[in-house]
Amino acid sequence: MTVDTSPAGVPSPRDAGARSEADGPGGEGSGELGSQHPLRRHRSSTLSAAELADVRGSLSPSRAADFKTCPLLYRYRTIDRLPEIPSTDQVRGTLVHAVLEKLYELPAAQRTPAAATAMLQPEWQRLAEAEPAMAELFTGDAAADFDGWLASAGELLDGYFMVEDPQRLEPADRESLIEVVLDTGLRLRGFVDRLDVSPAGDIRVVDYKTGGSPREAFEARALFQLKFYALVLWRTRGVVPRSLRLLYLKDREACDYSPDADELARFERNLGALWAAIERATAAKEFPPKRSRLCDWCSHQSRCPEFGGTPPPFPAPAEPGTEPAAAPDTEPAARSDAEPAAGAPGSEPAGADAEPAGAGAADLGGAG
Ligand code: SF4
Repeated sequence: MTVDTSPAGVPSPRDAGARSEADGPGGEGSGELGSQHPLRRHRSSTLSAAELADVRGSLSPSRAADFKTCPLLYRYRTIDRLPEIPSTDQVRGTLVHAVLEKLYELPAAQRTPAAATAMLQPEWQRLAEAEPAMAELFTGDAAADFDGWLASAGELLDGYFMVEDPQRLEPADRESLIEVVLDTGLRLRGFVDRLDVSPAGDIRVVDYKTGGSPREAFEARALFQLKFYALVLWRTRGVVPRSLRLLYLKDREACDYSPDADELARFERNLGALWAAIERATAAKEFPPKRSRLCDWCSHQSRCPEFGGTPPPFPAPAEPGTEPAAAPDTEPAARSDAEPAAGAPGSEPAGADAEPAGAGAADLGGAG
């Protein structure tokens, strides 16, 4: 099993309302890695051909959160599929996630801070070879920054060991694709950092947050992401996850949230409304910008009317919703939970999950 029971070093639970943050556009494990990314363990769809045949649209928590945050951002990422250059913070998040994923391949007794630190360099090599854009961040004058950057990744790993003891855990899965097709034909999919399942069948979803952005600014996004995962697991396994855990490695804090079936059913209806809004926007080719403090992290300011830019012509043809069921993920290459790019507070559109961040949250502390 996996459910860790109050490992030493786990900080006291804080107010749940202050813990449900998303420190980035992440979502999908802000999950923002494409399904073909080398970090992903399970890259192929888990759906049958019959299930896929029923799909009329597809959403990941990241893309759904993009639309909620700023429809134009959704368009640029999902429809135009414009490239985004990863930041060093995002790439550090990718590296730390890779090490934590790898750490659990070791026998429990060998999962030590020193072992994790020793993985940094080889994991970086692997990622840099797979994603040359990451390596390019440290060329030229920036090469001198590499050692300090790698050391900062080590500090995040130290933070991990402050909030969990991996020697006491045996995850059921890591970097795992979860997906479902709802009765409406909407396919929900996302990658979870870690799944823990107790001998009694209790499920815990764990998401690592590596960013240092102001947490309160992104609470709504984190809660949305976790509910999304919980809904998919509930619909696929028939069990409401007992706990959704956010691990803030920089702050060295853990936040547990406990969903219930009623709120997940409500969330499912709200996702349907969100998808309908996306379909309407796509049909009308209207994705207005929505300015927020998250614009500071947006890669598309130069083509955003809010900043004096002009959007490119709308791509054609545009399929309804434009996140085709069979299409690969459109997530940026680096983890965007490492740095905010979207997810403004108060950015919930009509029809989106409008529950205030943290509302109803039950911080279970180290219980699982
Ligand atoms: S700069 Fe802001 S308003 Fe413009 S596309 Fe990006 S997130 Fe949207």
